[in-house]
Amino acid sequence: MSEWRIMSVTCGGPRPTPLVEEPRPLLLVFPADEPGEALAGAFAAHHGAAVLGRITNVRREGGELVVTRSTHGGRLTLSLAVAPSLAVATANDLEGLDGTLSIGQPDDAAVERTPLADQSVNLEGAQIVIGGGRGLDAEGFAQLGRIAKALGAAVSASLPAVDLGLAPVSQQVGQSGKFVSPVIYFAAGMSGTPQHLAGVGARARILAVNSDLDAPIFGFAEAGSTTDARKLLPLVAEALEELKAEDA
Ligand SMILES: Cc1cc2nc3c(=O)[nH]c(=O)nc-3n(C[C@H](O)[C@H](O)[C@H](O)COP(=O)(O)OP(=O)(O)OC[C@H]3O[C@@H](n4cnc5c(N)ncnc54)[C@H](O)[C@@H]3O)c2cc1C
Repeated sequence: MSEWRIMSVTCGGPRPTPLVEEPRPLLLVFPADEPGEALAGAFAAHHGAAVLGRITNVRREGGELVVTRSTHGGRLTLSLAVAPSLAVATANDLEGLDGTLSIGQPDDAAVERTPLADQSVNLEGAQIVIGGGRGLDAEGFAQLGRIAKALGAAVSASLPAVDLGLAPVSQQVGQSGKFVSPVIYFAAGMSGTPQHLAGVGARARILAVNSDLDAPIFGFAEAGSTTDARKLLPLVAEALEELKAEDA
């Protein structure tokens, strides 16, 4: 069996590289920025490659390729042995690469653009994030908006809350949503699943509102309340608005 080749990818070559002719097994490492990640995903879909995500380390072990990546908001490190003969990953400053492959800029990017919700505080850079889950309704999310406004915070949502139409997909946090790294993460009506917390950085101090004392979120929260969110959130919003008015 031939040895894995690990190539970094630069985009913008004059012509697309005929990847089909590249010897396998091959790992292509794209830049870990927004265009790099978009291109890596499109490339993987087009060529049927394994998607390894953002990796921090790569090594060969007895003919196998093993990559390391962090998961669950940096709480765990995962080692993956790569089975297929074509894989893509993204990384910054990765050691042990065999060379660079320059691929052409795609002619026609098939991208559907969805306007982002009007949110004055950028979710990914926010120091305080106010999150809502399936335990809330539209009124609950309206209260989250008031709390966020009073604190200068951003609003996030769980996947089910997005599916229910309570928040736009641009506010979804988690494994298949955005990664946030605030100082404080306020989680209301969320159970605290690994898929959601994968999108919340390990430094975040979690405050939870959940009517079920056995909800897993209380295993991660530093403080919390089991009061019904429908009762608690309007009171919190009102108190914060009063404090803000006094400060003004
Ligand atoms: C491949 C994959 C990717 C996924 N990606 C994501 C992702 O990116 N983000 C994500 O969030 N999920 C993701 N999920 C879904 C995930 O598994 C969970 O289903 C989801 O995180 C649960 O969302 P939730 O906490 O809002 O809902 P639930 O788990 O249903 O929790 C709702 C909570 O609200 C509480 N509650 C109910 N009523 C009240 C009330 N009146 N007051 C206070 N509390 C109340 C309940 O006690 C409950 O704990 C993914 C799943 C898969 C399989």
